[in-house]
Amino acid sequence: MYRCKYLAHGLYISYDCFRHCHLSIHAPEERENNFIVNYKGPNDKVDWDLVFAKKKELVEGMRKGEIPNFCKGCHWLEEFDENSPEQYLSDLDSYIDMIWLGHFNECNARCLYCHAFELLSRKSITKDYGVITLLQEMFEKKIYNLEKNPDANISFAHGEPTLLQKFNDIMELCEKYGNRNIALYTNGILCSDTVEKMLKNRKSDVNIVISLDSGSREVYKKVKFVDKFDDVCETIRRYVIAAGDRAKFSIGIKYIIIPKINDTKEEIDKFYDICVNKLGVKYLIADLEEKWFVRHNGEVPEYYKDLLRYFKKKCEDNNIRFIFFDRALVTEL
Ligand code: SF4
Repeated sequence: MYRCKYLAHGLYISYDCFRHCHLSIHAPEERENNFIVNYKGPNDKVDWDLVFAKKKELVEGMRKGEIPNFCKGCHWLEEFDENSPEQYLSDLDSYIDMIWLGHFNECNARCLYCHAFELLSRKSITKDYGVITLLQEMFEKKIYNLEKNPDANISFAHGEPTLLQKFNDIMELCEKYGNRNIALYTNGILCSDTVEKMLKNRKSDVNIVISLDSGSREVYKKVKFVDKFDDVCETIRRYVIAAGDRAKFSIGIKYIIIPKINDTKEEIDKFYDICVNKLGVKYLIADLEEKWFVRHNGEVPEYYKDLLRYFKKKCEDNNIRFIFFDRALVTEL
């Protein structure tokens, strides 16, 4: 039997539809099939019964061994035995406990690995989508259900969240309804006073990930196509100070290894030095560039495995919290 916690309770809010998750990275050609219903903003009234009926059909199918094509090969897919003590029956309940906000793609960087940017060059999605109305409805009707799962999570999934007109309102709404977990994927070019305040007051666990991907201004420019390395470092410094002893859990700085751009131990050393020794970071994250990874069918040459091992060991030897992300996570080292 198979299951996926996101198929059961995840909702990816795209700019024109709802999807089950944001994570079909292993099957890009199947991304469009990861679809629940059309949705273009609060003028489209959501038929939540239909949303949950569609989820339930797939969840039940998976329990019988029918895996949707967009899920095949995904590392979030779990297999369990029909006789195992945990039968995951709550997967059949109708509630959401993971929201990805992917309804916009405005950005102030042009990262060469970014899907949102590809979409941005075709279609800039910056309109006010009315996401506050949607979130409010989900909180009020307990569609997004903090009673079923107090660790439910809202994550920004596309574009640069701090550019959103309603960014502060979204953060304040989460705090008002007692939503503790907010994942903020930001490029750090702008430092948000609201985020800084939330890190200080600690009513919510704002978990921030900033992809710096370099240890120098020159390499940063090759990855991001903007000259903002120093601004990002300043944002990291401010967030780390605001988070205090929670920085080890709240502020993760990511390095996506991109072949031929930043794939040397020297650049990783510079990244480590600036993050840990100069900015006080206590939590680092490594990943491999997605398009390259997909082109190579997930077969990672020894050279890149060695870089990942080197990175991990350096952090472990120095008591720096370290994790592998998506592609690096599924690479066998
Ligand atoms: S198995 Fe993977 S692709 Fe399928 S719903 Fe879960 S996270 Fe998404």
